[in-house]
Amino acid sequence: MYFCIRDDDTSFFTAPEELEHAYGEVSQWGPISLAVIPFCRAGTCKGVPEQFRGRWSVHPLHENQPLVVYLRAGIAEGRSEAMLHGYYHDELHTQPEFAGGGDLVRRVADGRKYLEELLGTTIRVFVPPYNTIGRQGLRAVVRAGLHLGCTAGVRSGWSTLSQVTWRMWFRLRRWRKSGGLGVPWILDLGDHREIAGNSVTPVSPVQRNKAVFESTIAMGGVFCAATHYWELGTTSVHRGDPTVGEHLRYLIERAWSDPQVVWRTVGDILSDDALVA
Ligand SMILES: [Zn+2]
Repeated sequence: MYFCIRDDDTSFFTAPEELEHAYGEVSQWGPISLAVIPFCRAGTCKGVPEQFRGRWSVHPLHENQPLVVYLRAGIAEGRSEAMLHGYYHDELHTQPEFAGGGDLVRRVADGRKYLEELLGTTIRVFVPPYNTIGRQGLRAVVRAGLHLGCTAGVRSGWSTLSQVTWRMWFRLRRWRKSGGLGVPWILDLGDHREIAGNSVTPVSPVQRNKAVFESTIAMGGVFCAATHYWELGTTSVHRGDPTVGEHLRYLIERAWSDPQVVWRTVGDILSDDALVA
């Protein structure tokens, strides 16, 4: 089985110490794929400190130099990967940034170039803010030659004219009907690939992720844990469940201690032709 960690919302507002606290130790075991916001707009995202939320001011990543230095080092050492997480992330009075609206082709191209130059890396994956993407957003991602760090589906931009779409749709439907858990493969849509994230948040039941993990390992699939460094200390809404951080730690230790598990970056997994089902 292949395992990866997707962590969203690294931005101007992130202190290197927060990432170090979350992943300093575990990034020695395997890489962390960070979904980074190039020009964070201080809207409603909980990753933005409370005193800035709702100001709608724009904060470029390069204005946080200690973070840039930290990210560059982690990427150069192979302990982390940068993925593109929107352009502004938040929009005033509209739906999520990549769910609709214009200018998305430019935002993907510019955001990607900005991060690549600033962090000295190559961006291969786009993660839409709030896991929400629409037809235009997906088109912009495909046009940039990027893969998607979540699943879009027919309602969110898969081409209804493509046979590949319907083959995938039927396959997923069959999988779910037969009681299959999660989406344990890389989805190849022809012009891009997608990887489903298994959410590790306060509302994610730990038993469900444990079951998905075990079923994925049994079939030799792909498991991506999707979380936020800023809520690892948060308690679960499910009584008796561990905190978000403990939940993630369980999955990491389960992956790390199992010789059947190969831990890679999201970008490496999506780019590997051998892993496409
Ligand atoms: Zn986000």
